[in-house]
Formats: sequence, structure tokens, C-alpha cells
Amino acid sequence: MKSARFFVSCVLLLTFTHMAVGQSASEGNAEPPAASRSLFGYTNRTAAPERDLEKKFQDAVIAANIQENMRRLSARPHNVGSPYDKDNAEWMLARFKEWGFDAKIETFDVLFPTPKERIVELVAPTKFRAKLQEPPLAVDPTSNQTAEQLPTYNAYSIDGDVTAPLVYVNYGNREDYEELDRMGISVKGAIVISRYGSGWRGIKPKVAAEHGAVGCIIYSDPRGDGFFHGDDYPTGGWRPREGVQRGSVMDTDYPGDPLTPGIGAVPGAKRLDIKEAKTITKIPVLPISYADAQPLLAALQGEIAPEAWRGGLPITYHIGPGPARVHLKVASNWDTKPLYDVIATLQGSDPDQWIIRGNHHDAWVNGAEDPISGMSPELEEARVLGEMHKQGWTPKRTLIYCAWDGEEPGLLGSVEWVETHVADLKKHAIVYINSDSSARGYLFTGGTQDLQSVVGAVAHGIIDPEKHISVWERAHLRAIMRAKNPEERGGLRKRNDLLITELGDGSDYTSFQDFAGISSLDLGFGGEDEGTQYHSIYDDYYWYTHFADNNFAYERALAQTMGTLVLRIAGADLLPFDYTAQAESIAKYESDLEKLLKDKQEEITERNQEIQEGALTATSDPHKTFVPPLIEPVPPFMNFAPMKNSIEDLKKAAERYSKALAKFRAAPEDSISSSSLETVNTDLMGIARLFLNDKGLPERPWFKNQIYAPGAYTGYGAKPVAAVREYMDQKKWKEADAQIPMVAQVIDNISAGINKAADDLESAVGAKH
Ligand SMILES: [Zn+2]
Repeated sequence: MKSARFFVSCVLLLTFTHMAVGQSASEGNAEPPAASRSLFGYTNRTAAPERDLEKKFQDAVIAANIQENMRRLSARPHNVGSPYDKDNAEWMLARFKEWGFDAKIETFDVLFPTPKERIVELVAPTKFRAKLQEPPLAVDPTSNQTAEQLPTYNAYSIDGDVTAPLVYVNYGNREDYEELDRMGISVKGAIVISRYGSGWRGIKPKVAAEHGAVGCIIYSDPRGDGFFHGDDYPTGGWRPREGVQRGSVMDTDYPGDPLTPGIGAVPGAKRLDIKEAKTITKIPVLPISYADAQPLLAALQGEIAPEAWRGGLPITYHIGPGPARVHLKVASNWDTKPLYDVIATLQGSDPDQWIIRGNHHDAWVNGAEDPISGMSPELEEARVLGEMHKQGWTPKRTLIYCAWDGEEPGLLGSVEWVETHVADLKKHAIVYINSDSSARGYLFTGGTQDLQSVVGAVAHGIIDPEKHISVWERAHLRAIMRAKNPEERGGLRKRNDLLITELGDGSDYTSFQDFAGISSLDLGFGGEDEGTQYHSIYDDYYWYTHFADNNFAYERALAQTMGTLVLRIAGADLLPFDYTAQAESIAKYESDLEKLLKDKQEEITERNQEIQEGALTATSDPHKTFVPPLIEPVPPFMNFAPMKNSIEDLKKAAERYSKALAKFRAAPEDSISSSSLETVNTDLMGIARLFLNDKGLPERPWFKNQIYAPGAYTGYGAKPVAAVREYMDQKKWKEADAQIPMVAQVIDNISAGINKAADDLESAVGAKH
């Protein structure tokens, strides 16, 4: 689901410019330079064979196989419920079996609406009917598979039939509506038209409905992903005038099947009535191309849109409301469809510890980039691991390779699987490693920072196929160049790892991290492919092989990176977790909350003063409507002390564990018994579970993780410490304040877990006195 180009550029931006205050110069927690013989998690005796194994794996990855996987899997449309979706699942099942995995398909029955009727028409002042159709292109051989293509729509839009004046709302997020308020423009009873971008699409109809709109249209402006950036398809790779972004608009209360929150959608599961499902939108919504949007936007009058709201079309952007009146009709077939999750296991010599690797296989249409550019390398990893197994190698820990169905509509396949198996997962899962869309460019790294060291260490050993330096070095140097100030640059130059950005809910890691408390990673390459056809019929093999990773060199690098990570964690004597970076990140999340409060206090104090001085009315253009904001109470001080105290203890625990790690690295081989390390490994596996609180977030109880969570109003974007943060965003200061001791308790639990691991590691290396 994750928006390839925007997601990638957004992630890179976050990763490389978002330098934590506390993360500026910590040394000693990252893996030593590649030149060092030590390998994090291995003894000197086991490090050399592990390096040989990884080298063997990397050399065996063949780009042409990945290309062939993509050609096969993206050959026809394969959305949930389509014949080719099932066909792909069965084909992958056969491959996993052939490669020696114990593989099966797990099926779930979920609510998946598909379009029955779609109308967008301008009824006044002139008439225009939107085509709502992406035309086949002669050069693109799969673009004419019209009979199998899902029409352009937003899944989980409620059915509706409305006619109303149109209002342009920019990206349609909450700040945009505040600006509309200043202009005296209401969307009550109106249909809003919003452009794609700046946050997840599902937020647009949600916020529109909260402001009284009766319908929502979302279009792809050429400034977002069209000709503004480069030649459009098929001359170049950017979205053409009739290209449309499909996508889910499921609300953010919980992901997965709307009818079975918190439990697997298996036969006999207790299902909600469709009317009870909280995640279906409140108003009808449809996506359109800019070819269809332009006549609607051109028919708007009223206020001129502020400069930042204007897109790339050759029109003057007006806001309305009207005189444009629009008729919007959406009706879906509300059917139950089967999901086919392919689950392939390579049993380890210790079957009780699981490394889980996944990518989704369903697409909106052909989905060469999203998701097949992640699925194809994953299959190649499995092939090579299977070959190695046939030659006599067995992983120390069990590997579970997954191909999820139903990710696009709402992470359905992974959520239902995790909900079904949550008890076993909590007992056995060490890590979940996800990929989704990937292309050319820089390695991006999202996840939980307990894995930051090992990811950095692996990235040191993977060669960028075009620059012939390590993928770590490329990403690292780019981060330095993009740093905001000398302090950040200085901090980055001392680092040997790559900063890991917290995850929102853009892909299948969500249920692992947020529901089951499993350390998670999401990796890929991006930033240098030429365009995007995200969720369109043109995201296909022809497009990918002309404008993304044409020779599959970065696809090969992705398989090498992911497979090496899997091997490194699966074979380690001591699981390669490290908590220093994570403690720093949590400290940063806390200081961000304090800064948010301070900024809000200052902003509201200043604005109140300007209102009292008459400054806002004095400086507004008398020819334009201006509604001054009302005096607002200044947010009270909050008591962050419990969290700050807990974080100090967390830092000490993390530091103590790092010191024990250093002793482990320096210890002579035979001084450490493997059974004593297994005790530490069991401790380590449990630490990620301590991030959970069974009650979940106060307004979204499905989300159990109290540190990492997506935002209710950001979707893809993460909102760390959401229990506190979301109340602050809603200006419910007292409620936010009341959550702080609860979060502090969770942090105390994490510290206790790390201290226990440190204690056991100190015993294991004989460093106890
Ligand atoms: Zn995807």
C-alpha cells in the first residue's frame, strides 16, 4: 500500500534530516567498522563461518530470477478476490515447496467492497461527466487487460448519492480547514475536492465529514506526481493526465477486516454487521485523474486559493463554494472475499525462535512496483536459502517466509494472520522483516531502533550496484549532506549505523509491531527512479523495466540486504539487539512532546495578543472575507516528570546492556556457555512485548504498543507515544497529562526487561562481581 515515491522521499527526508537531539554523538553502540573482524551477536569462532555463509548467499542471488518473478506475478491484474491473485498464491506455494520449505496457504474471509456504480459529474454551471477510466496505451502491453482491472475507486467508501456545491480544500487535512475558517468558507453540505498528497488519503474524507461535507473527491494533481516533475507516461515515467490513484480509505481505528476487529477472520468468527463497522467512511469518496478534475476545478469561483494550495494545472485555482455543483454517486458490491496468505517455513535447529520475513502479493492492478518489486526479491531470497538448505545448511532459528494477501485494502492478510496466531507469535517471534515497494537509489530503513545496530552492520557489507560503495556509505553521506545544521552533521559523521525511522501503518509490519509487540523492520531502495504510477493500471512490468530499476540491480541488492539480515539474526549466538539508539529515540519522542506543548503555548499566547491588538483585522485585505480566530485558552503546563524519570532509567539500563555486550565481544570463546546465552536470548525476545499495554491506546484500543503507533490523522506517518500525543493534538490537555504516568510505567517495564537481559549477559560472560 505504501505510496512508493512519496513514501520513499518522505521516509528519506525523515530519516536523513530528522536528527534526534539525543542521537547526536553516541558512540560505542554502533557496529565497529567493517574492517573489524567482530560480528555483532557472534563469537570469534562463529563469525568467520557466518561471514562465509552470508557471502555465499549474496553471490547466489540472481537478478534475472527476480526479473522473471516480477514478469510472472505482475502479468495480470491480481487484486483481492481476482482469479490471478489466487493463481499467484498457488504459484508461490509451489515454488516455496520446490525450494524445500514447508509451505501452505492460510485462508481468511474478509469484507472487500468492489465498485458497482461510480458517477462524478458537473451539473452546473455547465455539464461535464468524468470518464473515471484509465485508457490502455499501445506501447504498454498489459494496460489493455480492461476486463480484469478493478475500476478506479477508493475501497471502503460508504455508498452514497449526493449533489452539492463544490469546494476545493487543498490536501484536505485539518490545517487546511483552519485556513478555510479564516476565509469564512464552510464545507457544510458541500462536496469537497482535495488533491492527493500530504498524508494518507483516508484522512481526507474523514476530516471532510467532520466538517460537515457530504462527499469527497480526491484527484492526482500534476504538481504531485505528474508532468511538473518530468515527462509523463509513456514518454517518461510520471503519472499521465488520465492516470488515477486507487486506494483504501478505511478509517484508522483498527486495520484488517472491518468486521472482525482484534480476531482472525476465520470460519465461525464473530462478525460485526456492516453497519457496525467503524472503519467504513462516513461520506462517499472517489479518486479521479486531473483530466477529470480540471473541468470541475475550472468551474469554481470565489476566493483565489492561497499560493501554497495551487497545483500544476493551467487554471486559476479558486476555492468556491460553487458555482460548480457536482453529482457524486458511489455504490459497491459489499462482498466477502477469500484471502490467500502463503506461509512458508524453513525449520531451524531451534524451532522455538522465529524470524519472520514478509511482503504482500496482492495489488490494486498489475502492481509491478507495489508490491511485486518487494515480493520478487523475497522469493529469490527463499530460493537461495532453500538451495543452501539442500546442500546441508540448517538455520539455527526457524525462518517463516510470508506472502500476504489483501494488504492494499487495509493490511488484511497480515492483520488476520497475526490476530489468529498472536499467542504463538508472542511466544516465538524475534523479528518481523518487511518490504513492499522498492526501486533505484538509497537504502531506506524504518523500524524499531533495537535493530539499528544490526541493520547498519549489514548495510556496510552490501555494495551499491551503481556507485560501487556500500549501501551504508551512500545513505550515510546523503544523510550528512541533508542535515539541517553543523551540529547534526557532526553527530552523523560519528555514526557507524543508519538512523531507523519509526513506522506508521503504511504496510504489513503494523500488526506485528503495534498489536503483537514484535521488533519490526521495513527496508527498501528508492529516491532515484523516474516517476510513479502508484495504484494505477500503469504500475506494470513495462513501466518498471523502463522507469524504475530497469536491470534489477537494486532488486538484487534488496534481496542481498534482506537475506543477509535474516541470516545474521537467525544464526546469532546472541540476538543482535541493542537498546542505546532506542532509548535515545524514546527520549527524543518525549522531548518532542514537551516542545509541542511549548510551541502551542507560545503560538496561542501570541495569537491571542494579536487578536486583542486588532492586528489580524487591521492587516487583512478589506476586499476579502476574513474571519479572525477566537481567543483560545493557553494550554496548561503538563507534568512530563514521570516519563523523564523513566527515560533516565531506560538510558541507564540500555547503557548497562551495551557494556555487557562489549564484554561479550571481548570474552574468550570457551568462557561462554551457549545455554547461558540462550537465557539472554529469551530475555531479549521478551523485551519488545513490554512495549504493549493490554488496554491499548485510549481511543484506539486495537493499537497496544505505547511507544510506536501510526497517527489517527496522519495514517502512514508515525505518532510516537500516541496516547499522549493524540490528546495534545485534540487540545485535550488534561487527558494527555493523565496518560503520562501510564506511558512511564510501560517505559519502566522495558527498563526492567533490559536490566534482566544485562544481568543474565553479565553472568554469561562472567563479568559479575
Ligand atoms: Zn504495497
